[in-house]
Amino acid sequence: MKTYSVAVIPGDGIGPEVIRESLKVLKTVEEIHGGIRFTYDTFDWNCAYYLKHGRMMPENGLEILKDYDVILFGAVGDPSVPDHISVWELILPIRREFQQYVNLRPIKLLRGLESHLRYKNHEDLDFIVVRENTEGEYSSMGGRMHSNTPHEMAVQNNVITRFGSERILHYAYQLAEQRSKQRLTVATKSNAINHTMTFWDEIVKEVGADYPHIDTELYHIDALAAYFILKPETFDVVVGGNLFGDILTDLGAAMVGGLGLAPSGNINPEKNYPSMFEAIHGSAPDIAGKGIANPIAQIWSVSLMMDHLGHPDLGKLILDGIEEVVAEGEVRTPDLGGNAGTESMGNAIVSKIKELAKKTVQ
Ligand code: NAD
Ligand code: MN
Repeated sequence: MKTYSVAVIPGDGIGPEVIRESLKVLKTVEEIHGGIRFTYDTFDWNCAYYLKHGRMMPENGLEILKDYDVILFGAVGDPSVPDHISVWELILPIRREFQQYVNLRPIKLLRGLESHLRYKNHEDLDFIVVRENTEGEYSSMGGRMHSNTPHEMAVQNNVITRFGSERILHYAYQLAEQRSKQRLTVATKSNAINHTMTFWDEIVKEVGADYPHIDTELYHIDALAAYFILKPETFDVVVGGNLFGDILTDLGAAMVGGLGLAPSGNINPEKNYPSMFEAIHGSAPDIAGKGIANPIAQIWSVSLMMDHLGHPDLGKLILDGIEEVVAEGEVRTPDLGGNAGTESMGNAIVSKIKELAKKTVQ
């Protein structure tokens, strides 16, 4: 019996609502496999915690988390706490401290769903974005200057290191090697940002030399955003820095049905620290408490978690379960044009996973 310890941080708003459904799926996977077990500890680190304690997590929060195998994260954010506090004081320290330098974000249109891109179908929309998750524009270097003068300004440095760039590029190339098109698309902006981005381009060339069989294409971020819309079928693995990767993946999510369907993994490939799995979406205060949030993004994140833990068969089983329910079209949350609630959607996926597991065993 293999046991995995899971730290669960449900967060705010719809976070706890979608986490609940993803835990049902983990329980189902445990029953099906028989040889794995999950143990859970749940942490109430969210905006309510902040309002009570003046911080998003205890001082030793990272120390507490560091020995878990994985972290399952819902979403944080509440109108009563500024967003830069909830994000900067909880998610970003976890990503950085645990060297979760890969942010893995699949862009895949499930069977049975229509893309907002009129002429594209599920065969055209199936790629994966690898976002650098620890440096770049999200660095803490910089600050405010000359306050109370007409020259008041703010500077935030874009930090590109050789170490950080090499490791993310190696990861992206190795992922490209496992996929069908054998192609890596790289986001840059070296025509205008002439220190950091030209350095990045140089490292792309050097690392790329180790993977001569992979076709590398380098695009400026503005053109690349346009190509996401115009020719998504040409992409297989797309790699970009922290900010470019963030923006591209919300665009990608919109192309495949919206935030309710977009999963992510914050991965430490060396596994010397826990990795964290979370839906891309936030706490959605506009629909929180109504029981109508789509739990797919969070359940799909659990599928990525199974891949990471070395059980790609179970990861695929979960994703197949999600896709089959969506394709059948009977149970859909309002964001997908239906009237099912979060819980019915979760239950439908659980039943489907059980059904598919029986078929493969027989
Ligand atoms: P959001 O993702 O919470 O919501 C954007 C829109 O998408 C809303 O209309 C929402 O109803 C809808 N939506 C999101 N997830 C959905 C789901 N699962 N099912 C159905 N509809 C869904 O983004 P926002 O409104 O910009 O931010 C709200 C709060 O979340 C803010 O406080 C923000 O800082 C925070 N946030 C947190 C994270 C995170 O925890 N990683 C990420 C993004 C935003
Ligand atoms: Mn984002």
